[in-house]
Amino acid sequence: MTLEFFLVESFSHEDAKAQRNTSKLKKLCVPLCLHVFVAKFLLSQNIIYLKTIFNRLSMEKLSINRRSFISQLSMSAGGLILSQKLHLLKEQPRKLGIALVGLGGYSANQLGPALKQTQYCKLAGVVTGSKAKGEQWAKDYGFPEKNIYTYDTMSQLAGNSDIDIVYVVTPNGLHAEHAIAAAKAGKHVICEKPMATTVAECDAIIDACHAANVKLSIGYRLHFDPYHQELMRLAKEKDFGLLKKMNGDRGFVMGSKAWRADKKLAGGGPLMDLGIYLVHGACMGANGVAPLAVTAKYHTKTRPDIFSDVEEGISWTMEFPGGSIADLQTSYEHTKDYFKAEGAKGWIEFKEHAFTYRGLVVETSRGPLNFTPPNQQALQMDDFAQCVQLNKQSRVPGELGKRDVIIIRAIYNAAEAGNKVLVKV
Ligand code: NAD
Repeated sequence: MTLEFFLVESFSHEDAKAQRNTSKLKKLCVPLCLHVFVAKFLLSQNIIYLKTIFNRLSMEKLSINRRSFISQLSMSAGGLILSQKLHLLKEQPRKLGIALVGLGGYSANQLGPALKQTQYCKLAGVVTGSKAKGEQWAKDYGFPEKNIYTYDTMSQLAGNSDIDIVYVVTPNGLHAEHAIAAAKAGKHVICEKPMATTVAECDAIIDACHAANVKLSIGYRLHFDPYHQELMRLAKEKDFGLLKKMNGDRGFVMGSKAWRADKKLAGGGPLMDLGIYLVHGACMGANGVAPLAVTAKYHTKTRPDIFSDVEEGISWTMEFPGGSIADLQTSYEHTKDYFKAEGAKGWIEFKEHAFTYRGLVVETSRGPLNFTPPNQQALQMDDFAQCVQLNKQSRVPGELGKRDVIIIRAIYNAAEAGNKVLVKV
């Protein structure tokens, strides 16, 4: 299409006055033809914008002068170039490189496979204590062996431009050490839950990321799950009224002593590992607000040989502003994954796999929910990669991880003291 065509087509239905102005405009445009054709050559798919300008000029009865026309034209060309660039960015994003620290169950079964589905990031390296494991991962995921590090060589990540983000997936008691090492190497950090075993460690991670000017996010994948997003929406919009009554139970049977029953590495028993989901879920049900106070009671140990220095099970109550109450329990002695929140006008019940990756069965007082289950981890890591690309804060930042560790420590204090403990977030 030529510029002439635009002029004719754009102005053919206008009144006589507009047509007189059209010929004025034609004269004005001739010296600009070359300019326009260069723009058209570069941006041929978007030429429709030029037509829009001429139409607008016509409708405004051509109250233009040469300067404003040129200015509109160049703004349009600038807009076209920007739109072209955004289009390219959308179609061909640079995938950021992620290095997983710790190649245990969660990395191998969830995060690695999810990184084959991500659009904005990919697995580019690993940090592991096992050379053979690292080499196998390099083969499976197609990254060079130079991108395999040990826990002792994490500082060398600094010189590796293949790796933008370090994802800490080691036992809880090592999160602070590994997250801080990653930040010091200048890498953005994702840290698994619980963020750390103490509030002081959470602060140290946040401070290290701040000092290194890198972003920090916690592996709270359920913020990317549609059922949990619905819980957040219900809480925010008070669709069922204030969710005043919540209850939940999460547990699995741990058969032998592992790091999860080692206080130094785990920071506690099932409350640190599984109960954290209930703590977080109840705060979602309270519209993102932390409880004012907690009470708690340890369960009687049935296998004190395994649970010699951590609890085997614990029940606790969270009291939220506005009067909402959450009665929750977690255990390594029975298997359960359940959560319910009720308001005066309705309820939402996570009947099965409430906090798991898939297979969630969720009903409300209005009927069952049937969302298409996404890959939570892929969405979570893609979201963080986009936060890094666009310089945005993660929706699951370090401060959220720290909030939960503060609540968990208050629950332990309440169980130890046998009293209500105020939560100071
Ligand atoms: P895991 O035991 O399967 O793996 C732990 C990894 O850490 C192993 O590769 C192990 O070799 C390594 N490691 C390094 N130093 C170690 C040490 N001193 N002792 C023991 N192991 C050491 O554990 P996992 O299930 O993969 O859990 C790892 C982290 O991921 C934990 O913080 C856990 O809470 C978290 N996690 C999160 C989810 C989730 O859904 N977000 C699910 C599972 C685990």
